[in-house]
This record gives sequence, structure tokens and C-alpha cells, in this order.
Amino acid sequence: MAVVAVLPGDVKRLDMGNTLLRFNNDNWQQLASQCITDIDVLCNELQLDAKDIRALCEPNAFALKVPLPFVSRIQKGDATDPLLLQILPLKQEKLETVGFVADPLGETSFNPTPGLIHKYAGRVLLTMASSCPVNCRYCFRRHFPYADNRLTPATWQPALDYIEADASISEIILSGGEPLLLNDRMIDKLLHSLEKIEHVKLLRIHSRMPIVIPQRLTKALCDRLSSSRLRTTLVLHCNHPNEIDSTVSEALAALVASPVTLLNQSVLLKNINDTSAVLKKLSYTLFDVGVLPYYLHATDPVQGTAHFFVDDTRAKALSKQLINSLPGYLVPTLVREISGESAKTRLGI
Ligand SMILES: *Cc1c(COP(=O)(O)O)cnc(C)c1O
Ligand code: SF4
Repeated sequence: MAVVAVLPGDVKRLDMGNTLLRFNNDNWQQLASQCITDIDVLCNELQLDAKDIRALCEPNAFALKVPLPFVSRIQKGDATDPLLLQILPLKQEKLETVGFVADPLGETSFNPTPGLIHKYAGRVLLTMASSCPVNCRYCFRRHFPYADNRLTPATWQPALDYIEADASISEIILSGGEPLLLNDRMIDKLLHSLEKIEHVKLLRIHSRMPIVIPQRLTKALCDRLSSSRLRTTLVLHCNHPNEIDSTVSEALAALVASPVTLLNQSVLLKNINDTSAVLKKLSYTLFDVGVLPYYLHATDPVQGTAHFFVDDTRAKALSKQLINSLPGYLVPTLVREISGESAKTRLGI
């Protein structure tokens, strides 16, 4: 497989003094609507030469999109920053790579009602929003037909009926897109409906929001999740220790002190977190803020993401290094989702 080097050779650092980020507010909805979508603006914030960066990029239908709190954690003047590489639409995305497809998980075929995916025993996944506040370049859902497949109060009744009719379903997973783009009132409404279904015991929320816009963890949301009848787990999505700063740890504090379980899933990404040193630091940093590592996802063969691909031999070697150097509870399980399997597949070492 042709894997092209990601690292932009010699992008100059611009000396522009201190550019001030404009996010001195706690209003997550404003922060979500003020994402940076323009390379020049991004480069200005990051003191990078926009001409050099533009030469490496080629915008496509999956646009540049990144919220300011996340941008503030990118090292200024560093075009190889591991957070920057997760959001920059590089030319490599246009490469057609043999064996890389649009829907590697075959998700569109486990979709009994709009917005609901029932693939694994006992749990269903609800796709709750049509977009994300951040466009992660490696996203395996980048080609997913969200527009036909999202739940709003107007469209979630068929999904609720499906769940109610199947007593084997004990866990509801809110995923996306980004489920925490729903406002507190909507989440409250959905939780009320789910809490009424007796056989539903567990709620899980898969969200990148606590990382990219930690202000989303409002007191109202934390209180609602903490007091639900449903045993609740929040699974963050964090790939690199630099994604965690004091705003993230402060936002998580209320949940750390609550009955909500905090886990993290990461994606193994070439040139971003594919060393045992970075992965070890990630585990310890997560634990420091009250979060346990859950899954480390082996990269999926999604068209446009070949430059992030870490082959299985290397992925397993990294996993083994983690097992040999971390306490067991800080080792994420290396998994891949294989279409047609009844669970995520553990990649043995
Ligand atoms: C990952 C996933 C789940 C949850 O799997 P766990 O192994 O329980 O974390 C459920 N449904 C779908 C469709 C998934 O992709
Ligand atoms: S937050 Fe998750 S769903 Fe959203 S773009 Fe990133 S990887 Fe994809």
C-alpha cells in the first residue's frame, strides 16, 4: 500500500507575536458555532505560513473544521504538531488506495430504523447528530450518510419503539456524529424516554466534545447524567496526551466525583500516536484526570485516510510494549471492527 509521508518538510514559523484566541467564554454553543474552517485563519492563530500550509492541503467535501479550545492546545509554529495533523485536510486524502473503501464497517446494512445501528448483542448505537464540531481527518464515518440517519425528537420515536420491542437490549449507546451537540434539554428528553423502558439499564455516550469543547460539560448535563436511573458511562475520544489541558481536567472534575464512569477510546494514527512513549503518556495523562483507557482502535481502511494507517504488525508490537510497561488497568485493548463479526475483534499479540 502506498503510504505517503505526512510530515510537511520545511514549513516556516512566522513571527507574529501573540495571537489571542477568541474563546474567553463558557458558552459551548457559541464555541461550536465559531469553529475555524479556513486555513488562513488557522495559520494566523498558529503562527504558520499560510502559503506553505496551503501547498500541502487540498480542501474536500469533508471540510476543515476545528473549535478554538482544541486549537489552543496546538503548539504554535509547529506544522508537525500531532493535534494539527488530526485536523488538516492534506493532499494525501485524495489518494485512491486499493482496498480502502467508503463504508468499511458495512454499517448501512445494520440499520433497522433511521439512526439506529443494532450489530452487537444487548446494545444498540444511536447516531444522534448529523455533524461534529471537529472534522477528524481519519474519521471512519466521513462517508457515512448522516443526513438520512440522525435522530432528533421529531424522528427518534421509531428507534425508541424498536428498543422497547426487544427486551434483549440493555444498553443504549449515544454516538454520532457528536451526540453532545444535542442541547441539555434534548438530552434530558431522550433520557426520560429511555429511562421509561424497563429493560434498558445502561447508557453510554461516545463523545469527543469533552476534549474539543470541554465547556460542553455544563453543570446541568453532569447533574442529569449523574442522577439518571441508567448506569452511565462517558467514553471520551482522545488520541494524544497534548489534547488534555487544565480546561479538560476541570470540566471532567464534576463527573469524576459522580457515579458516571469515564473511559477513553483512541485511534492508532501514524505520526500522531504510533509510539509506545506517546501511548504510555496518554494512558497516564488520562488516568491523572480520572479516565481509564478502553479501546485503541486499529486504523480502518477508509478511503482518504491511508496516510494515517499503521499496519497490524506494528500495532500489535506497540500493544505488546504497552502490556510490558504499564499496569494492566492502563492498557487499552487493541481492536478492529470487522464487518459481520459479533463484537469488535481483539488483535492478539
Ligand atoms: C463499537 C460499537 C458498539 C459498542 O461495542 P463495545 O465493544 O461494547 O464497546 C456497539 N454498536 C456498534 C455498532 C459499535 O460500532
Ligand atoms: S469526533 Fe468522531 S465522529 Fe466526529 S469527526 Fe472526529 S472521529 Fe469522526
